[in-house]
Amino acid sequence: MKVNGIKSLRAKLVWYAILSMAATFFTITTVVTGVLYYRSKVPGSNIYYPPGGEAGVAVGQNGIYLFTGRFALDISLIFIFALILFSIFFLMISYDTIQYVKEIIIGIERMKNGDMETGIRVAGEDELAVIANSINEMRTQIASENETKRLAEQTKDELITNVAHDLRTPLTSIIGYLDLVKREDFLTPAQQKKYIGIVYDKAKSLETLIKDLFDYTRYDKDKMKIHRNYLNLNQFMEQLIDEFYPSFSEKGLICKKEISKEEICIFGDGELLARAIGNLISNAIKYGADGKLVEIYTETRNDQAVVRIVNYGRIIPKEDIDKIFDKFYRVESSRSLKTGGTGLGLAIAKNIVGLHDGTISAQSDTDGTIFQIVLPLAKEKESKKEE
Ligand code: ATP
Ligand code: MG
Repeated sequence: MKVNGIKSLRAKLVWYAILSMAATFFTITTVVTGVLYYRSKVPGSNIYYPPGGEAGVAVGQNGIYLFTGRFALDISLIFIFALILFSIFFLMISYDTIQYVKEIIIGIERMKNGDMETGIRVAGEDELAVIANSINEMRTQIASENETKRLAEQTKDELITNVAHDLRTPLTSIIGYLDLVKREDFLTPAQQKKYIGIVYDKAKSLETLIKDLFDYTRYDKDKMKIHRNYLNLNQFMEQLIDEFYPSFSEKGLICKKEISKEEICIFGDGELLARAIGNLISNAIKYGADGKLVEIYTETRNDQAVVRIVNYGRIIPKEDIDKIFDKFYRVESSRSLKTGGTGLGLAIAKNIVGLHDGTISAQSDTDGTIFQIVLPLAKEKESKKEE
C-alpha cells in the first residue's frame, strides 16, 4: 500500500492547520470588529478607566482602544486568545484522526493480549491506514504461524499415540510367540518355524516403524546435508526401477519404462534422490496396485530434467492433493484400508527435491495419478566439482 502525497498524513495535518488558522482568523476578526463597532456606536463605551487613574476617552495607536487601553497589551491578549482558539479548532478538526490513532493503539493492545481474531479497521489512504494494514498483515501471519504450530503439535501428539500403539501391537505378539516357543517343549519343528517366522515379520515391521521415526528428524530440510555428484539420470532411474522389481511383481504390477533417449545430466545427491524418487515409486506400488500398471518417464523440458511416475486405480481427492506433501498427512481412505505408512514419504521427497532446487507436484484424476519431479540440469562446471 503506497501513500499518495496529497492523501498523506502530513498533507492532512497541513490542511487541518490551514483550516484551524482560517477559523481562528475569522473568529478574531469578528470579535475585534464587533468590539470596535460597539465602542464606536455605543455612547460612553469607549471610555477607558485606567486602574487608579482618571477616566478618559482612550485613544490608542489605532485611534481607539480595544480592551486594555494599551496597544501592546491588546495585541498580546489577541495573540493568546488566537492560540487557544487555534488549539481548540485544530483538536476539533483532527478529532477523527486522533480517534483513529486511539483505535489502532487499542487494536495493538488487543493483539498483544492474544486476541488475533479481529483486525484493525483500515480507514483512508494515509500513513495510519498503511500502519493498520501492515498490522493486519502481521496479525494474519502470526495467526497462521500459530495455527501451523498448533497443527504440528497435534500431529506430533497423534504420531506419538499412533506409534506407541503400533509399537505395542507387534511387540505384544512377539513376546507372546517367543514365550510360547520358550515354554512349550511339545512344539513340532514346523510349528516352531512358523512362530519364529511370525516373530521375524513382526520384528521387521517394528524396524520399519522405527526407521520412519528416525526419518522424521533425519530428512528435515534444515538438518539434511547434501553431497552432490554428477548423475546420469537415465542410468540412475534404470537402476532404481530394477531395485523395485520384486515389489512390482509381488503386487502383480507391470512397470512401463519410458526413459529418454537423450542423456540427462543432473548434479545431485544420489542417495537422497534415490530416497525421494523411491518414495514415489513405492507409493505407486502401494496405492496403485489395483491399476495393474505403473509408468515411469524421464525427459528434458525447458532445460530441466523431468521424472514422472504414473499409477492408476485409487484417485487422490482434490481437497487432499495439496496436503499430501505435509508431514504425517494421509488420505483418509489409506488410513482406513491400512495400506499406508506414517505419511512421511512425500514430505521427505519434497524436502529432498527442494534441497536440489527442484519442484515436486501431483495430479490425480480418472486419467491416473501423476507425480512429477522437475530438477535443474547439471551445468558444465558443476559436473567437474563435487560438494
Ligand atoms: P509413508 O510413505 O511414510 O510410509 P504414506 O505412504 O502414507 O506413508 P506419503 O507417501 O507421504 O505417506 O503419502 C501421503 C498420502 O498420499 C498417502 O497416505 C496416500 O493416501 C496418498 N498417496 C501418495 N501417493 C499416492 C499414489 N501414487 N496414488 C494414490 N495415493 C497416493
Ligand atoms: Mg508413502
